[in-house]
Amino acid sequence: MSAETSAQKEDLESRLRELEGRLESLKRDAAQEHSSDSAEQAQERENDEVVDAIGVETREAIAAMKSALQRLEEGNYGICIQCGQAIAADRLKARPEATHCIDCAV
Ligand SMILES: [Zn+2]
Repeated sequence: MSAETSAQKEDLESRLRELEGRLESLKRDAAQEHSSDSAEQAQERENDEVVDAIGVETREAIAAMKSALQRLEEGNYGICIQCGQAIAADRLKARPEATHCIDCAV
C-alpha cells in the first residue's frame, strides 16, 4: 500500500469513526424519554423528524465511507465507477467517498 493510499485510508477511517459516533449520539437522543408537556412534545416531534433525516443521511454516509474503504482495499479507489477515469485529486479531497468523476457526477 502506497503512502498516499494509507493517508487516504486513515482519512476515510477517521471520517467513518466520526460518523458512527454521530449516529450513536443520535440514537441516544432518540431513546430519551419524552416529556409529558404537550407543547414540548410537539417540539420534540419536530426534533425527531430532524434526527430521523440526519440519521438517514448519516447511515448513507457511513455506507459510502465503508464502500470507499473497500474500493481502496481492492485498488479501485479514486476511479470513476461509470467511465473508469481517475477522479480528480481535489475532488477526492473534498469528497473522499466520491464514486464518480466530476463529468459523470449528476
Ligand atoms: Zn466518470
